[in-house]
Amino acid sequence: MSDFSAEFSRNLRSAGVVGAGGAGFPAYVKAQGKAEYALVNAAECEPLLKKDQKILEYFPAKVFDGLEMLMKAVGAKRGIVGIKKKHEKLIPRLEEIAKGRKNISILKLGDYYPAGDEQCLVYEATGRVVPPGGIPLDVGCVVCNVETLYNAAFPGKPVTETFITVNGAVKKPATFRVPVGVTWREAVELCGGFTVKDPAYIDGGPMMGKVMTDFDAPVVKASGGIIVLPKDHPLIVKKAQSRPVFSRIGRSTCDQCCFCTEFCPRYLLGHNVQPHRVMRSMQFTGGAHKVHSQYALLCCECSLCSLYACPENLHPTSACVSAKADLREMKVGFKNSEINTGKKPVPHPVRDFRKVPVSKLVRHLGLSDYNFDAPWKDEDYKPSRVRILLAQHIGLPCAPAVSVGQRVEKGAVVGDVPADKLGCPVHASISGTVTKVNEKYVEITA
Ligand code: SF4
Ligand code: SF4
Repeated sequence: MSDFSAEFSRNLRSAGVVGAGGAGFPAYVKAQGKAEYALVNAAECEPLLKKDQKILEYFPAKVFDGLEMLMKAVGAKRGIVGIKKKHEKLIPRLEEIAKGRKNISILKLGDYYPAGDEQCLVYEATGRVVPPGGIPLDVGCVVCNVETLYNAAFPGKPVTETFITVNGAVKKPATFRVPVGVTWREAVELCGGFTVKDPAYIDGGPMMGKVMTDFDAPVVKASGGIIVLPKDHPLIVKKAQSRPVFSRIGRSTCDQCCFCTEFCPRYLLGHNVQPHRVMRSMQFTGGAHKVHSQYALLCCECSLCSLYACPENLHPTSACVSAKADLREMKVGFKNSEINTGKKPVPHPVRDFRKVPVSKLVRHLGLSDYNFDAPWKDEDYKPSRVRILLAQHIGLPCAPAVSVGQRVEKGAVVGDVPADKLGCPVHASISGTVTKVNEKYVEITA
């Protein structure tokens, strides 16, 4: 590792930079790899979320700065910003900035879901297919989200704020920045409040996000935004189905038409994901259950099968999630599974014709009445209290580094992970006094 890579990686770790696209993978790990291509995932394919577009509209130079640093750290010869061509006003500005930077270009993507799946983006940008069970680094690529690179452009500066979109059933949908640790209720109030009496929300996009009802849950570094909907909206009801419910309905209704598999973006990339076989696994126990469950191992949980492809409105995504959990208990992963044949994946010949347009998806999800622009607003919100979650990233959760009664300044480390473990610190997002510490969070009161 070069001196620059080592220092860049140290700064990312100490600043607590994590993947801001929702996954929360510690960014310093990616910076330690070697890659030919550094890709910016600006596809933002989750319907109704706008924060990546807004960051690129208002702070583009910082994202390019972060990309250049990442390219230097991993030794990438090319940087590619993958953004949907529908952003017609934004793209010329990005192309102008790219002209002034070395070896950076803009890749225009179609408006389909899931253009932002990192393995789909790698294929679109380079024509390379990530091997089954592999990661983009296996084919010489490192992929980072827009906000992650924005944060990377401030070496060593702790991540204390995050960009979010609040869209759906709120009075003034918007995209803005808030201190990490404020509640979603406060974020909704900054958007004028609810427009429905009995709201629920999806944390993250409508496709991959989780249904939540607790608006007092805190915003975390990897938060991208929420979609507020009435609690009885069909999307909320479907996504909230429990395992006994989706299993019972699936067992009795699935006619094995295979549409779920035919539309699966990972299957279309040539990976052996077959959700219809996972649905079949629910009819069996023992060895037969195990055999069919293995076709879930390479599922990326994009939800296209459940929320678009299945004509019976069944839930193959949840079947895949449950199947993977069952296999974990049996100590079966991709490497020791029967679908690990060592064959090179070959993309499906009709892949391009099975891409699902986002406009069609929005209608299918019943979100046409909730799909607002969510414009950028400058917000300098000063909360009186924040709760900093100790588990905000993939890896080992932080252990508290402060105690009740202690005074902390904004940016101070309030939780950390041992240096030899995967993870990174969390920081105070406001100055104040520590008023609560437990295994889940550190509370700071201004
Ligand atoms: S699309 Fe629906 S009905 Fe068809 S095989 Fe998949 S889960 Fe079953
Ligand atoms: S959620 Fe469904 S469509 Fe998406 S990768 Fe998994 S099996 Fe394929």
